[in-house]
Amino acid sequence: MRIGIPRALLYYHYHPLWSTFWRYLGLEVVSSPPTSKEILDQGVSAAVAEACLPVKVFYGHAFYLAPQVEFLFVPRLVSAETGTYICPKLMGLPDMLRHAGRKLPPLLSPTLNARCGPRAWEEALTRTARVLGFSAGQAKRACNAAAAEQARYTAKLGEGKTPLDILSEGKEDKEGGQDQNLGTQKALLLLGHPYNLFDDFISLGLLRRLRARGYRVTTAEMLSSRLIAEEAARLPKALFWSLGRLVLGAGSYYLRSGGVAGIIHVVSFGCGPDSLVGELLERKARRAGQLPFLLLTLDEHTGEGGMVTRLEAFLDMVEWRNAS
Ligand code: SF4
Repeated sequence: MRIGIPRALLYYHYHPLWSTFWRYLGLEVVSSPPTSKEILDQGVSAAVAEACLPVKVFYGHAFYLAPQVEFLFVPRLVSAETGTYICPKLMGLPDMLRHAGRKLPPLLSPTLNARCGPRAWEEALTRTARVLGFSAGQAKRACNAAAAEQARYTAKLGEGKTPLDILSEGKEDKEGGQDQNLGTQKALLLLGHPYNLFDDFISLGLLRRLRARGYRVTTAEMLSSRLIAEEAARLPKALFWSLGRLVLGAGSYYLRSGGVAGIIHVVSFGCGPDSLVGELLERKARRAGQLPFLLLTLDEHTGEGGMVTRLEAFLDMVEWRNAS
């Protein structure tokens, strides 16, 4: 049996967990290729106009995989840690996709909700595996193997690698990789949802461009969850969107401690959580007044020319401040 895992949305956070789980059970895991114009156009043509860009991209990846697999893995992502939610659109994603008017293979959609307890993800994956005829023991062993693989991935992120660096490990094409030995490189903090930052097509090659200009790129994923939790606890009110909490926690940490030459925050047009977090972070950056801050909004119409012009102006400012 082949199961398709779209290379979109939280693939960039959880693909080691999900791929290992199904592979361990003996399924062939097929991931879609990096986003292309064709994949994006497919998604845009089927999604409702109000959907944010990352959801439209996810549709495109799901449609690409549909003819090649017996099942599509589209979890209903509610919460990844106690006390938080991910995003309403991710909770409704399997339903939206089923009603997109395209022929799809059966969707496997466990409800992943950490608010139901520390083992809730494991229990949900186990229930889904049992539907396919696997025993509880087989599913448990698959969960253990998947958790170990995910822990290895998290450790690599903590070493300063991005999901793209890890995905390209072992491949010959290392273009744009971060040279960890260049301790003297200026660092920039790149904030945003992983599906925007690490999708080279959607981000218009932002990560690559920054590295090509000689910057070391730091992202929120490289900080420990303990540090993010400590920073989030300083906020006057608890933020219950986990991706927003990650961005705001990392941004607040660097605004307080320094260590980067500037901050770039990438947001999606039409994203409710981003509109709140973007505003909070921009105000914090303005109040702190120490670091150049750039807010980039992406949608399917974002042109390369406009983005590059703003980026160049921002980097000129970073370099001018460093020189003075
Ligand atoms: S958090 Fe924002 S960008 Fe991400 S899926 Fe939800 S609405 Fe879309």
